[in-house]
Amino acid sequence: MSDVTPAEMHRILDRQRAAFLNAGPPDRKQRRTNLRRLKAGILKRRTEIVRALKTDFGQRSERESAIVELIPLVQSINYMIAHLGCWMKPQRRHVSAYFQCGRAWVVRQPVGVVGIIAPWNYPVSLALVPLATAIAAGNRAMLKPSEFTPATSAVIGQIVQAIFPPEQVSVVTGGGEVGAAFSALPFDHILFTGSTAVGKKVAEAAARNLTPVTLELGGKSPVVIAPGFSMQQVAERVAFGKLTNAGQTCVAPDYALVHEGDRDAFAAAYQDAVKKLHPGGYAGSPDYTAILNTHHYERLSGLVRDAEEHGAQVIRMGSDSAASHVLAPVLILDVRPELAVMQEEIFGPILPVLTYRNLDEAIAFINARPRPLALYYFGDSRVERDRVLKNTISGNVTINGTLMHYVQDDLPFGGVGDSGIGAYHGKEGFMALTHARGVYRQGRFNAATLLQPPFGKLTDVITNLILR
Ligand code: NAD
Repeated sequence: MSDVTPAEMHRILDRQRAAFLNAGPPDRKQRRTNLRRLKAGILKRRTEIVRALKTDFGQRSERESAIVELIPLVQSINYMIAHLGCWMKPQRRHVSAYFQCGRAWVVRQPVGVVGIIAPWNYPVSLALVPLATAIAAGNRAMLKPSEFTPATSAVIGQIVQAIFPPEQVSVVTGGGEVGAAFSALPFDHILFTGSTAVGKKVAEAAARNLTPVTLELGGKSPVVIAPGFSMQQVAERVAFGKLTNAGQTCVAPDYALVHEGDRDAFAAAYQDAVKKLHPGGYAGSPDYTAILNTHHYERLSGLVRDAEEHGAQVIRMGSDSAASHVLAPVLILDVRPELAVMQEEIFGPILPVLTYRNLDEAIAFINARPRPLALYYFGDSRVERDRVLKNTISGNVTINGTLMHYVQDDLPFGGVGDSGIGAYHGKEGFMALTHARGVYRQGRFNAATLLQPPFGKLTDVITNLILR
């Protein structure tokens, strides 16, 4: 792993592409072996990974690193190993009567070299699940992790280097400039995970090469709480989703939409739930994660200050530590949509609560904003639930819970509109990083030849039959 120049990155790409064309696509056995070796490399360096995450964040819950970072990663690799054979099988397709006795099928071909750009918030799984997907799909890959997690990126580099030759998988490091040069390379596909603003730049750079992109972006994911659902349960599940990784999760519930009659009950239950989740406090706690750096700590503190200055009710649920950039959970009531906290993705442990009078108002609120990455709905009524699901669009949904759609190996994961383009995870990931090549084999007898010269009466009969 090294900091590289654009010319060096180009050379790596050229070598990978040449090696891909030379060796041909790997078979199922080779792909499974590669995935098993990747998994073994991760497990072998498990302790180093957790230590590196702690170094990068300053304070990161070890348990969370295991549960939210490593388990989903290893589980998704296991799932790919188990299902790869099935996804790789050519798929027989329909042949219309006029083209009998031909045969049609689809083959999923690896595209070649995939460029992967990863963010800092889950720097291991968001780099290595895309990499595993590229490998499962039979591709070679270049990976650029985030510059904000140097210790973790170094461990990722070591894992990759120990397993794969550079013409198969390469890790390159650097910041935005390297990212810009990286996304300008003529990859066969780019899988980018990060912010919407940078995602647009990546799409622009990729378009110049006609490189297809999968963009896994962010946004403000709402929680809609219908009246009647157990407030204790809602609060516990929203607090879990909001405080995991201290809210630095792309699918974290961003804000809550609560029926006006339930606001106070929800606020009380949320505070109880937060206390129960973190009885040991925040700064110095082994179970709570710091905000990545001072910049984001200041940004989040600014959002809280702005809400306070504009008359919102701010409830701080613990002591912060500016020195170690640990921000205790915050609940904000009496929130108006114009507040700064409602203008950007929060990405921290702050929960603004807005109220609605009827579900249509909540639906209209969501639809007046960019399409979210996730939508959470809590409620017992199937009719109301279906109304919300039918009348809103989001990347994914979890009903009566938070975050859990993300760890379902057999569900596509991705955004829509401002929250992303395309999807990966499981089968959809394999599909995204392979080309669907349609093949038609003409039979010895081919009904369609009756439509070819020399034309005769039979051709007229068949033409009239088709054009009925
Ligand atoms: P970011 O967009 O700032 O950076 C992501 C990556 O892009 C980094 O590796 C960075 O070096 C690189 N980069 C920066 N400038 C670039 C450029 N001009 N061209 C190409 N690459 C460039 O995002 P971040 O701050 O690391 O992560 C937080 C954001 O990512 C949040 O918005 C969050 O919601 C989103 N996110 C989305 C998902 C998802 O799966 N949808 C997952 C995690 C995070």
